[in-house]
Amino acid sequence: MSILSLDQHLKGFYEAEKKSLLAFYPGLTIHRLRQDIKLHAFLNGVDSEELFEFPYLPHRTHPLTIFFEKLKVGTPLEYITGYAYFYRSLFKVTSDVLIPRSETEILVELASQEIKRSYKNKQCRVADIGTGSGAIGISLLMEETAQLDMVMTDISEAALKLAQENFFSHKFAISSIHKTTFIKSDRLKDVPGEFNLILTNPPYIKKSADMAGVHSQVAAFEPHLALFLDDDIYDQWFNEFFTSIHEKLVTGGVSLVESHENHLEAQAEMARKIGFSEVVLVRDYTNRNRFLKLKK
Ligand code: GLN
Repeated sequence: MSILSLDQHLKGFYEAEKKSLLAFYPGLTIHRLRQDIKLHAFLNGVDSEELFEFPYLPHRTHPLTIFFEKLKVGTPLEYITGYAYFYRSLFKVTSDVLIPRSETEILVELASQEIKRSYKNKQCRVADIGTGSGAIGISLLMEETAQLDMVMTDISEAALKLAQENFFSHKFAISSIHKTTFIKSDRLKDVPGEFNLILTNPPYIKKSADMAGVHSQVAAFEPHLALFLDDDIYDQWFNEFFTSIHEKLVTGGVSLVESHENHLEAQAEMARKIGFSEVVLVRDYTNRNRFLKLKK
């Protein structure tokens, strides 16, 4: 790279790659890209003004070379910067965890409504099953003033470690009245005790049947463990999961589950058969069936 400011490099790169960049990142502007680079620099302790103004000599590896290479192959921006916006905060993400989606913020809102309605001055034992980055559980811990006894689980050791890291970096914003525990577990298998509220955004894409609807970047970069279930075990997996949720809820307890628009109605029927007294389907921002509220 020649003696150019970072801004000049960025403009050159954006213009040259615009077509493929927009295919990977619909609506990506040069301004958004600049912001993400600045965020990345800031979060990694680099003075972004210096980064942008300093002229880089040809024999030095340009600090943005790796950033540009990752963009060219469509790496999600969140995996490049290492951070994703969710609810009211920024969460560290790695390729071990799903990038938290904006529609999942609805799950936090529904959970928050439930806590405010039923546990005003009472303790509420909450589980976030398959927590990934920890975004759901940590957002609730930051939000709520009722005392939460929060259990965050994941089947992936690496995900659980990252959730703990995110928990510690948000600790300053979490009331000390809450208690938080991390457990490595497949669904609720190794989780002791009963719960008032069970939250989960499990893998819910049927590997073959639903594949057509999956964005190529999602399948290429995000952890399959967090996304897909094989078609032949799909129904059995959810049936076992819902049965254990039913067993682990106190009477009157509620579970909020994110799932696939193609399967939500069948899963609602499954939940009724298992014995949930109230089953409600909730839509997402795109008006698709996305969440189940299951009451015991
Ligand atoms: N909503 C995600 C997607 O469409 C899937 C999340 C999940 O499987 N839990 O990529």
